[in-house]
Amino acid sequence: MISKEQIGINLKYVESAINAACERSGRKRSDVTLIAVSKMNPPEAITAARECGINVFGENKVQELCDKIDILGSEPEWHLIGHLQTNKVKYIIGKVKMIHSVDSLKLADAIDSASAKAGVVTDILLEINIAGEESKFGLKPEQLYNTICEISRMNNVRICGLMTVAPYTDNPEENRIHFRKMKELSVDIASKNIDNVNMNVLSMGMTGDYEVAIEEGATHIRVGTGIFGARDYSK
Ligand SMILES: *Cc1c(COP(=O)(O)O)cnc(C)c1O
Repeated sequence: MISKEQIGINLKYVESAINAACERSGRKRSDVTLIAVSKMNPPEAITAARECGINVFGENKVQELCDKIDILGSEPEWHLIGHLQTNKVKYIIGKVKMIHSVDSLKLADAIDSASAKAGVVTDILLEINIAGEESKFGLKPEQLYNTICEISRMNNVRICGLMTVAPYTDNPEENRIHFRKMKELSVDIASKNIDNVNMNVLSMGMTGDYEVAIEEGATHIRVGTGIFGARDYSK
């Protein structure tokens, strides 16, 4: 496992890069939330990151998330950032701060029902497949408005913004156009003043491209490798 010392060093680097991107784009550091993506890292690594001052974590699988909540409790803020199946919704309601990956009316409906049952309102983001990649989840931009109108009628979900996973690239500048389109979509939806809908959150940018994402308006960046090191997919 990565050492706490190394996590601390990595975090210092990420922090300075976030600060520089904020400065370049005239934004405040406090307007950007760093989500430490802890998937495939053990609970001990999360504890080490917390000791380095991080308290917001992102996980992409329901089972792994629930296991970690069982071990570490609900004091850290948990975000579900990965694809969610309707039949697994019930396991995470009331346990997560936000679900970033809502990509269908059916899923929103399941979250609404489970939230009503639990007596909570769940904050969600709508995931957009901004580059139209075959392999990616997410709504097409042209589906967004109608989907939002439908979801806005649900009493136990609250739409708080948009999320995207940009294409994998070695050159983060290539994703600037996608991040810019996300911001435009967000501004466009916000201008429609739909009841029960706000566009406060724009979740975009990962280890390879979070600086560009911040420059283009990200409010939440999801950084895994840059904090915890490369994940071991051989296990
Ligand atoms: C894994 C993951 C990340 C973090 O990726 P890194 O490149 O390691 O920073 C961010 N968002 C989602 C949805 C992920 O699944």
